[in-house]
Amino acid sequence: MSDRLPGFSTLAVHAGAQPDPTTGARATPIYQTTSFVFNDADHAASLFGLQAFGNIYTRIGNPTNAVLEERVAALEGGTAALAVASGHAAQVVVLQQLLQPGDEFIAARKLYGGSINQFTHAFKSFGWNVVWADTDDIASFERAVTPRTKAIFIESIANPGGSITDIEAVSTVARKAGVPLIVDNTLASPYLIRPIDHGADIVVHSLTKFLGGHGNSLGGIIVDAGTFDWSTGGKYPMLSEPRPEYHGIKLQETFGNFAFAIACRVLGLRDLGPALSPFNAFMILTGIETLPLRMQRHCDNAKAVAEFLAGHPAVASVSYAGLPSDKYHQLARKYAPKGAGAVFTFSLKGGYDAGVSLVSKLQLFSHLANVGDTRSLVIHPASTTHSQLDDAAKIKSGAGPDVVRLSIGIEDKEDLIADLEQALGA
Ligand SMILES: *Cc1c(COP(=O)(O)O)cnc(C)c1O
Repeated sequence: MSDRLPGFSTLAVHAGAQPDPTTGARATPIYQTTSFVFNDADHAASLFGLQAFGNIYTRIGNPTNAVLEERVAALEGGTAALAVASGHAAQVVVLQQLLQPGDEFIAARKLYGGSINQFTHAFKSFGWNVVWADTDDIASFERAVTPRTKAIFIESIANPGGSITDIEAVSTVARKAGVPLIVDNTLASPYLIRPIDHGADIVVHSLTKFLGGHGNSLGGIIVDAGTFDWSTGGKYPMLSEPRPEYHGIKLQETFGNFAFAIACRVLGLRDLGPALSPFNAFMILTGIETLPLRMQRHCDNAKAVAEFLAGHPAVASVSYAGLPSDKYHQLARKYAPKGAGAVFTFSLKGGYDAGVSLVSKLQLFSHLANVGDTRSLVIHPASTTHSQLDDAAKIKSGAGPDVVRLSIGIEDKEDLIADLEQALGA
């Protein structure tokens, strides 16, 4: 064996996986079972008491899911990960470990529309209060910090406009405030940006998007960077205080730099229940094997399409950080030098009606609410994903009435451009 550390593409194919010890199966099998037989009563007791690691019941862990967890942890440079049923489930499980009723977290205003809804409405009933800040004004994060702030949440590449967040600047604010920085890395994937390298303490993904990559399976994942000290100031009792449901053990004291991932599993996933099906884990693992190839193609196609749109007379503006004229281009060069992602927006001179009309005329692009598929996708956020927001909030989140969002697939770029050309011209 050479002592070379494996590169990203090698990890994408191999991390976490071994040939199956009993059958020799080379692809990771789908362990489609709810439960696992104990060796004996002592073994069972030690598993339940967290004295030994092992499989109990698929709501808490599953061997197929474990390969996915190890692989994404390796790709992101974290200490451990926990796979869950969806990106939104990952967000709930993360915040459940950090917030008590009445606590606050600061979130970037430019976010996936579903996250804006989840934070604004669903979390209210848990007593978790979101305070919004603006990634274009890092001081707004500092101003939002109060003694009840428990976390900061941003996207690396932000939905829907594809803007690039200055992760290091926000991480400095989080450090000063003594709270963890959570980065939703869905639109970048670890191929483009590894937030932990820039100061993130926790990374979350919707695996549904680029990591799975084929528009066929929902999933989410939480990656623990292992960097945060949960014991300071009694701010994070789920991690620092004795847990009555596990004979009084303290998670940080027992599990050290992967205590957060353990908390998410044994306090979050076990009790809230959003487990990922092993079948979906298998589909997503298969997708991840080609992540570097797909992601580069997504980015190269997106840049070509953005350049075409920027030169089209019906287009008012293109918001793609891969274009040298874009406001986020310098940040893209720093954080995402291989490409600025494949999800971006543009606006039409014809406003709302032109946006609706374009969407109806496109043939190769699918009109639907998803991103990060092999297929190219289009949506008009103002009438769909962001329709619950008022006009001012729509504009602030990058989803004004004239804005169309594209998620560029891995087809031939010439075909994508031809489809846009006929739909814009006709
Ligand atoms: C889709 C998405 C989510 C939510 O993920 P689901 O798997 O649909 O629950 C969260 N964040 C971003 C950036 C997304 O694109």
